Amino acid sequence: MTQEQRTISILGATGSIGSSTLDLIRRNRDAWRVVALTANGNAVALAKLAREFSAEIAVVADEACLPELREALAGSGIEAAGGAQALVEAAARGVDMTIAAIVGCAGLAPTMAAIEQGGLIGLANKEALVSAGGIMTAAVAQHGATLLPVDSEHNAIFQCLQGNKASHVRAITLTASGGPFREWTAQQLAAATPAQAVKHPNWSMGAKISVDSATMFNKGLELIEAHYLFPVGLDRLRIVVHPQSIVHSMVEYQDGSTLAQLGPSDMRVPIASVLAWPERMETPCGPLDLAAIGELTFRAPDEVRFPATRLAREAARAGGAMPAVLNAANEVAVDAFLRGRIGFTRIAEDVERVLASYAPCAPASLDEVLAVDAEARQQALGLMPCA
Ligand code: NDP
Repeated sequence: MTQEQRTISILGATGSIGSSTLDLIRRNRDAWRVVALTANGNAVALAKLAREFSAEIAVVADEACLPELREALAGSGIEAAGGAQALVEAAARGVDMTIAAIVGCAGLAPTMAAIEQGGLIGLANKEALVSAGGIMTAAVAQHGATLLPVDSEHNAIFQCLQGNKASHVRAITLTASGGPFREWTAQQLAAATPAQAVKHPNWSMGAKISVDSATMFNKGLELIEAHYLFPVGLDRLRIVVHPQSIVHSMVEYQDGSTLAQLGPSDMRVPIASVLAWPERMETPCGPLDLAAIGELTFRAPDEVRFPATRLAREAARAGGAMPAVLNAANEVAVDAFLRGRIGFTRIAEDVERVLASYAPCAPASLDEVLAVDAEARQQALGLMPCA
């Protein structure tokens, strides 16, 4: 290990964020030593990455895939492990930086394990923070960890807050592309297919976040994420639709100045800012050609066609378990939509039904959050049509 080399683990290495992170590391191989790489069941792709980056350990969360991983890593000297506990143990190998890029609440326990080691946590896994915001931010403070937002909007806000006082913030505005169905009528939305929903106009992402983007639950989750990361008060958090996805978010100060961060729609930009923080690094992304882009437009979100942001704001306001309930119900409904079991507009309807059936309670530990998550999933599954 050279003197400047830092250690890194990537939870969710085979996904969209994981691949973008590894692309940047590939271009800066001397700067990093890879410790743990993880996936769910994609053992062959994980083993290939583990070999390429000479990882210490590769972990599949789905234990049934461990034999395949072992076979793919045979003779490499790289440890192979499988199962939920192995994932948490790998995340707990103290490293300088962990990129938390598992999709869904499944990433919560390993992300918490990484936080408990201190160090830098590049957080992409918004569902974990949404589900356990208070507990996670308290753990960050307790263990001296630093949470760096990977999500492009929160990364933009983080950058716009540098050198300023939170007490001077008048409002924070999250931008939303509006997704592929931005202009669709309610009737068209009712007939939207999974293939149409995963085709995002500006970003290339995993299937779940692409559907979240189409329903606007992604923005709802991000509103809650911002509420925990930048505690300026829910009433100061706004959402504006910006179809070009060039302005990634904005912070308005009390003197009337608004600072915005602009960049191409490429997640390697916010990931690079996290990897290099507090420095900057080169990326393969070209310069922003505003003259070629021509127009940047903005409009208010339509919460009648897309109720997700209203539901998220209500869940955040209710606090306690409600954000975890909203997230769990959404994960179940998105999965059912992707499998063709329910229609597109049923996603928000089901989330609203599950939220309405919950009495507010305040989970005080990771186990209690996971229990709420499991219970809300059962409730959401109960709403599904019979197979
Ligand atoms: P992908 O679906 O592309 O990748 C998800 C990763 O998590 C894969 O490595 C997958 O492994 C792993 N995984 C899936 N399920 C489990 C599980 N149950 N246990 C352990 N690991 C699991 O997702 P994205 O990269 O798109 O998104 C990752 C996170 O980053 C999400 O929270 C998303 O909201 C957030 N994010 C993503 C952005 C993007 O541009 N993609 C932008 C901003 C935030 P396997 O390959 O084996 O299935």
